Amino acid sequence: MIKVDLISPMRCSKCRRPAILFQRYSGLHLCREHFLADLESKAKRDIRSHGWIRPGDMIGIALSGGKDSSALLYFLHTLVSRRKDVDLFAITVDEGISGYRDPGIARKRALDLGIPHVTVSFREKFGITIDEIVGKKGDFLSCSYCGVLRRHVLNAVAREEHATRLALGFNLDDEAQSVLMNVLRGDRDRLLRSSVPAEGVIPRMKPFLHIPEREVALYSYLMGGNVDLGRCPYAHNALRAGVREMLNAYAWEHPATRHALVNLGDELAGLNTGQKCGLHPCERCGEPCGNVCRSCQILSEVTGNDR
Ligand SMILES: [Zn+2]
Ligand SMILES: [Zn+2]
Repeated sequence: MIKVDLISPMRCSKCRRPAILFQRYSGLHLCREHFLADLESKAKRDIRSHGWIRPGDMIGIALSGGKDSSALLYFLHTLVSRRKDVDLFAITVDEGISGYRDPGIARKRALDLGIPHVTVSFREKFGITIDEIVGKKGDFLSCSYCGVLRRHVLNAVAREEHATRLALGFNLDDEAQSVLMNVLRGDRDRLLRSSVPAEGVIPRMKPFLHIPEREVALYSYLMGGNVDLGRCPYAHNALRAGVREMLNAYAWEHPATRHALVNLGDELAGLNTGQKCGLHPCERCGEPCGNVCRSCQILSEVTGNDR
């Protein structure tokens, strides 16, 4: 008689305990412990190879409180909590989108780990919220406006708090989509954008550059419980959504695709290390910018006056 094992769990490829994850791109089944070790060792490898953490560093963590940034908080806490020569703090940007992302959740997560936390709002920084911008201009461009203003605030706060590094929770899927979007738009400048930061720009680190989105989400869940804050009510970036769908379908057949795109993006940016990106302080707000400061451009467009 054939014995049917109803539970029949897959076993970890490393220790034969029940697996919680199958990595299609590596062919490995991993248990909880080996999954955590695998993710952390990949993130540490990227930190080492990019020289992202140095003795004396003060690292500002961009913490929305969602799964990617919470995972980043837990990971960096695990990594440096026993080091005396590296300090962490977390920054939460309150964009002013009602019913979405209570900044108090992010604050609690950071303080629970003993990590100092700063909240900054678009209201106090710019005198306007994303809800108000959408009220005036509709939500067609709100994502790109919000992105520009959020980067501005994160950089300004990181600088004010004397951060030497700004840590961002972007994962493999985000990064691969960005590289492919730049290819599809034929955006040579962005593909070759120097990884050497201009004056006034706090250097960034993206420890999850090579970690797939679902693994970052799983890490966040295992370390801190469910943190899904839902989607921003104004989020519709049509190009990114299309690229994400296309890439997911393609990567199902060719599991190394996202890694290949991210490595390509990394290499192209690395070709340009000799050159800084020609930014200078904005005449109005003092943040580093190109010819025209995008933040100030957006603010005068939505408020209808020259600030
Ligand atoms: Zn195992
Ligand atoms: Zn400006």
